[in-house]
Amino acid sequence: MIVDCHCHAGRGDKMTAPWNTHAPIEPYLRRARAAGIDKTIVMAPFHSNYAEANAQVGRIVGKYPGRLIGFAFVHAVRDAGRIFQMVEHAVRKWSFRGIKVHGHEAMPTREVCETARTLRLPLLVDVTSRSEVVDMLAPQYPEVNFIIAHLGSNTDDFRAHQQVVYQLARYPNVFADTSGVRQYDYIVEAVKRAGARKLLFGSDGPWLHPGVEIQKIRLLGLPPDQEALILGGNILRLLRLARAGAESPTISGGRAQNGAARGPGRSQILYAVDGAPATETAL
Ligand SMILES: [Zn+2]
Repeated sequence: MIVDCHCHAGRGDKMTAPWNTHAPIEPYLRRARAAGIDKTIVMAPFHSNYAEANAQVGRIVGKYPGRLIGFAFVHAVRDAGRIFQMVEHAVRKWSFRGIKVHGHEAMPTREVCETARTLRLPLLVDVTSRSEVVDMLAPQYPEVNFIIAHLGSNTDDFRAHQQVVYQLARYPNVFADTSGVRQYDYIVEAVKRAGARKLLFGSDGPWLHPGVEIQKIRLLGLPPDQEALILGGNILRLLRLARAGAESPTISGGRAQNGAARGPGRSQILYAVDGAPATETAL
């Protein structure tokens, strides 16, 4: 199964750039289907109200339940004090399976990391080339799986890519997505140093073409089993650890303890039994 682990959906409200204005899902879905992508993780574009933006994403996921899985976007500072509640709501109501934080707004705080840990959700974080924060986050929260967007930089910062490659190899709970990474040799280095289990295919759609982004993975020329990990196996493994909240028909495999939780209330959320983080040893 091919899974794009990084795509945006819905409308932003700032309207100064594409990524805070509109992320139309239909053109993306046409391109993704043509590229052979089975499922896609979607999150809001930049927004001044993530409760509202997540609800939009929830409605979009509801329209395409077989193809889309939501991640809850939170602003670590602006939403302080209600992050658990926002994320839990999204998990329960729309079966969201992860958290997105963008360092351009605020880096993940303890509140964000503890929410991810409690709900066993992967935390997709754009560190905006400030890859040194990964050295703070990863050892403080070894139970949280961090996915570092764009291999550390969406602006071709080679130092950030370099550092994230080392961090992938060093920390069992650090992963990275390939979306928007142009300097190809850092993708090659990531696989060589950290192994195919640490890299995740992502497109940053709808602004980047998923067919172009997936070709970067194909061009690695990896053995089929390793390519399959990057194209979907790795993110599915991380999502299976979540299994929190309402029943989710969108993921095959994985099993919630005692079946799926239903209805409201934190106490009713059940957690996975196979919830240990990945255990690769550092090189
Ligand atoms: Zn993005």
